[in-house]
Formats: sequence, C-alpha cells, structure tokens
Amino acid sequence: MTANLVLLGPPGAGKGTQAEILRERLGLEHLSTGDILRAEMKAGSELGKKAKEYVEKGELVPDEVIIGMIREKLLALPKEKGFLLDGFPRTVAQAEALDELLKEIGRELTAVIYLKVSWEVVRMRLTGRLICRNCGAIYHRVNKPPKNDMRCDICGGELYQREDDKEEVIKQRFEVYNQQTAPLVDFYRQKGILFEVNSEVSAEETFKQIENILNSL
Ligand code: AMP
Repeated sequence: MTANLVLLGPPGAGKGTQAEILRERLGLEHLSTGDILRAEMKAGSELGKKAKEYVEKGELVPDEVIIGMIREKLLALPKEKGFLLDGFPRTVAQAEALDELLKEIGRELTAVIYLKVSWEVVRMRLTGRLICRNCGAIYHRVNKPPKNDMRCDICGGELYQREDDKEEVIKQRFEVYNQQTAPLVDFYRQKGILFEVNSEVSAEETFKQIENILNSL
C-alpha cells in the first residue's frame, strides 16, 4: 500500500526503528531530519556546522533551516512514492509549513502515528543505544546487543554512541520534546488523523499495532 505518514513521539520512542520496518515492508520513502542533519555534520558542510551547535546541546535547529531541507526532499519525491516523516515536524510552525507544502504539491497525510512511551523507558533506551557508523543500523547494549563487540551484525561497521545520547543531553531533549513537540499531538488529533500506539513493547509488537491501524484506514 502507499501512504504518507508522520511518526510522532519523544526521542527514544522507536521512530527510527519503526521507520526502517515500514520502509522495508511498505516501500515508503524514509525522510529523517535527524539522519539528514547527521550526514551534513559528518560531511562538514555549512548546514552541518550550523546544525551541530544545536544538535549537540539537544536543542532544535531553527525552523526555517529544517523546513527548507524537507521542502527540497518532498519536491524531489516521485509522485507515486509514499513517504514517512521521522523527526519532522517538531514544532507547530513546522507542522503548519508542512500543511502548506503538501497543499502545494497536491498531497495529503494519511495518518500521524503517535508512539507513546514514558520518560523511564526513553532514558533506558537512549543511554544504551548504539548506531552503526557505516549503515545506520540501531542496536542496544542490553535489549539488542551486537553479536561481535561494537561491530555491526549487518555490515561489520563500527558502532558508536550518538553524542546527544549521553545522559546529560537526553534530559534536555525530552524537555524540548515536551515543550515544543508534544503540542502536535492535539494539533493532529483535531484534524482527525492521529493514531496512538503503545511503544513500550517490542519493535515487532509496536509494528503490529501500526499495521492494524494502516489496514483499518
Ligand atoms: P533525531 O535523530 O530525530 O533525534 O534528531 C537529532 C537532533 O537533530 C535533534 O535533537 C535536533 O537537534 C535536530 N533535529 C532533528 N529534526 C529536527 C526538526 N524537525 N526540527 C529541529 N531540529 C531537529
């Protein structure tokens, strides 16, 4: 099926993990603003240098930078391809800009999937999270340890802890989420396209809930 989805939820809710499953099984284009920013930071581009100041402190990169980035990606997307937004929108201004942009390109959101998870689970997930430097695969020191110490099971790449997954930054990111992003739950509920999912269970169980929602649409 094709669909245009937003994955909403705090850092550590499992947006990246679910996005990967949805991309694989439904063939949706995965657009992650966090991944795009990290790639720009790695490349040392102007955008990357600007973003770094915010990302490393757990703060949001200014709306106009992010909106410009997503605009470019959505305009380039083939008409028949569904998309999956992960980590965007994160503010009401971004959500309003997205509405405008979708109108402009003649598309609509099919559903906003809200991944609900408590602070305790977020803290546990993020402090243990490991990412492959090469292919971006996600692991966890306890819940999903790699077979070989600090090496990716898939490509053998080196695993690392994101700078902003350090304990002191996580709390800040969660607070920023509560203040700036949580209002989007009501924003989309009022539009009648918000669907809640319990994301404290396993990735596969979370995916089943999303699949049920998509099948019911
Ligand atoms: P993520 O990988 O989604 O957790 O994003 C990592 C960091 O990138 C965030 O803590 C922000 O600093 C920045 N970022 C990602 N997406 C956005 C966005 N939509 N608006 C502002 N900043 C963002």
